[in-house]
Amino acid sequence: MKRVKSRQIKVGSLKIGGDAPISVQSMTNTKTHDIDKTVSQIKKLELAGCELVRVAVPDKKAVAALSHIKELIKIPLVADIHFNYKLALAALDAGADKIRINPGNIGNESRVREIIEKAREKRIPIRIGVNAGSLHKKYRDSGESLAKSLANSALEYVGFFEDLDFLDFIVSVKASSVTATIEAYELLASKVNCPLHIGVTEAGTLVTGTVKSAIGIGTLLREGIGDTIRVSLTANPIKEVEVGFKILRALELRCVGPEIISCPTCGRCEIDLIALTKKVEKKLSKCKIPLKIAVMGCIVNGPGEAREADLGIAAGKGEGLLFAKGKPIKKVPEGDLVEALLTLVSEFERG
Ligand code: SF4
Repeated sequence: MKRVKSRQIKVGSLKIGGDAPISVQSMTNTKTHDIDKTVSQIKKLELAGCELVRVAVPDKKAVAALSHIKELIKIPLVADIHFNYKLALAALDAGADKIRINPGNIGNESRVREIIEKAREKRIPIRIGVNAGSLHKKYRDSGESLAKSLANSALEYVGFFEDLDFLDFIVSVKASSVTATIEAYELLASKVNCPLHIGVTEAGTLVTGTVKSAIGIGTLLREGIGDTIRVSLTANPIKEVEVGFKILRALELRCVGPEIISCPTCGRCEIDLIALTKKVEKKLSKCKIPLKIAVMGCIVNGPGEAREADLGIAAGKGEGLLFAKGKPIKKVPEGDLVEALLTLVSEFERG
């Protein structure tokens, strides 16, 4: 799949756009002024692979916390600001690596211009974050479709930024409707060459939000659109990162670590395959080699059904089978299956 070529920006040490890998980001849900809790959550996000983290900056207390948070974390920090341009200016002074604003709710143009000038001076990029829920009245009441309104609103801001010769920006146009989101990004991508932050906003709880994000983000990525992704879930933000990487993995865009495939089970299954698969997932959560590993519910059909897997286990009554590319390697007592698989994976790791 061919990526739509975008220009590259740098957020702290992270490159976004151009030929940089599509990055995965998330947002904390702690009170930003609670430095301990916010840093603790960011550290967990870092461990999960999060490459960029955004924090809400609703007030002066949150701005005051930014520099302390930044000192204690490794990944670039983004300040999310609505309505108050002074907070945006203060966040730029506090050392945020990027700020996210929706120019439509920041106020008049001179305020947006002031933010742009400060960002230029500090060499800090800005995300123009247009959202269905906070569309400017002019676009909300335009009579156009939501997708067109989102794209037109973003294009107006893009024009404004470019007229000021400020190109250090990235754009998002999100809605909770998957179809409107996809269409808005398609319209936008056909007209701009800035990097795009993609995601479906207010996507819902874990299962619903994962499905909507996988379809929305996945469709766009498959079309080559998108340079960084944020899965938006009403769940622990760690899940956003996990789902983000799984979307990239499923599209073979970033293969970090193994992909576990497992059968849905049927009447032939003799063991608790859900528990077994979870155990394998957990044990391999730190593994970095891009293997496809199968966990199958029966010896009779499992190895054949999972012949595209590099390695696999098929469970049986009392004993299971270890296999590679559909071919049996050896039979193993049921209780030793996972350990036998892990030993084989380590042999791969060592080359
Ligand atoms: Fe059923 Fe075996 Fe296929 Fe799993 S591998 S779905 S248990 S036949």
